[in-house]
Amino acid sequence: MAAVQVDEATLGQDLRQLARFTLPGEVKGAVSRLPWTPEDQAAVAWLHRQMEELGLVPSLDPLGNLWGVWDVGAGDSLVLGSHRDSVPQGGAFDGALGVVAALAVVRSLKRAGHRPRHNLEVVAWNDEEGARFGTTLFGSRMYVGALDGGQLANLRDPAGRRLEDVVRTAGYDLGRMRPSSSLSRIAAYLELHVEQGPVLEREHQEIGIVTGVGGIIQERITLRGTRVHAAYSGGDRQDPVLAAARVLHRLAAVETEQNRLRPRAVLGVTVGRVELSSALVNVVPESVSFTVDSRAPDPRDALAALESLHEEVAAVSEADGVSFSTTALNDHTTLAGGGVRTEPIRFNADIASVIRGVSQDLGYRAIDIPSWAGHDAMALGPRVPTAMIFVPSVRGLSHTPLEFTADADAGRGANVLLHTLLALDAAP
Ligand SMILES: [Zn+2]
Repeated sequence: MAAVQVDEATLGQDLRQLARFTLPGEVKGAVSRLPWTPEDQAAVAWLHRQMEELGLVPSLDPLGNLWGVWDVGAGDSLVLGSHRDSVPQGGAFDGALGVVAALAVVRSLKRAGHRPRHNLEVVAWNDEEGARFGTTLFGSRMYVGALDGGQLANLRDPAGRRLEDVVRTAGYDLGRMRPSSSLSRIAAYLELHVEQGPVLEREHQEIGIVTGVGGIIQERITLRGTRVHAAYSGGDRQDPVLAAARVLHRLAAVETEQNRLRPRAVLGVTVGRVELSSALVNVVPESVSFTVDSRAPDPRDALAALESLHEEVAAVSEADGVSFSTTALNDHTTLAGGGVRTEPIRFNADIASVIRGVSQDLGYRAIDIPSWAGHDAMALGPRVPTAMIFVPSVRGLSHTPLEFTADADAGRGANVLLHTLLALDAAP
């Protein structure tokens, strides 16, 4: 079967077609396809049609995940896919690539007249990003039983709409959302994804064999002082803004120190949201909140950075006369739904070595690489044999309209997906 290849041009066209299902009026190149929206429904309708045309049997499960099944009457299935949602103002490749590549794999097999020994299933997961309700990995976590829908009913989106109501309007019933009762049918889950970071491009590699997902810990830290007029002079202001600045400066130093002299970065710390309790030019706000996202291939590094930050917050607060509180937003292990906090998710080593062999046979430059981002494969990983394949993102950009992966790179990834599938299908 070495002659079978994915049709790279069709794969590229499918990516561009799927990118058209976006909130209207966005900036050029942006994809905003949030869950439970008309844009998502349009994407589902299109994917549904593609699946039918390929001879797959499409169906939406009660969680909003779209499945396309090639049932050959086998007892178990090989599952390929990724998520179909995007963040607001995201790109055309994150998630979408894994979905259209799965379709491309089926297309190649059908054209070659190849009948698999396992059932093949393509999945387009619902709401991986959690960009609307904070429900990261919603479709896949609910599917494997790592998330309880009942706890989510009252979550609100930025427009103030309750999740339960939004879901009902889209034709779903939160009360009827149950985990799959047939996880054991999944012989393997394979996900192709763009890297969303700079390593493959920087090291001139074409394929990343993803070893696992490291630690991602997110918190909100609030510093609280005293609201005064700008006219309040003197050194005894309890100013939470200046205190926050000192904490963030220290945080940057921790990250720099950890990554210094390492061949590859070991720690990434991001402050993505800063909120002041007032927004007046002539007022010291009473409080400042900021989020911290600490992530590292080795979760101990992510945790150590946060602990170091906590010490700094305590010291600065004392010195500046402000108080502080911290709130956990998530860590990746609770996202995946099991295990001890900061325990990394490791993907299946046997499938990883199949991917390594396939990449070599195809003549592609490949390296092992940890994932710095969360993926649906994290939810599957602790429960079924799971592997991920990365292809380069130009300049490492992702979650932006500038996200880009060339057709040739996407095609190489899809070929690795195809031949890994064939190898697993042929194995006894
Ligand atoms: Zn993704």
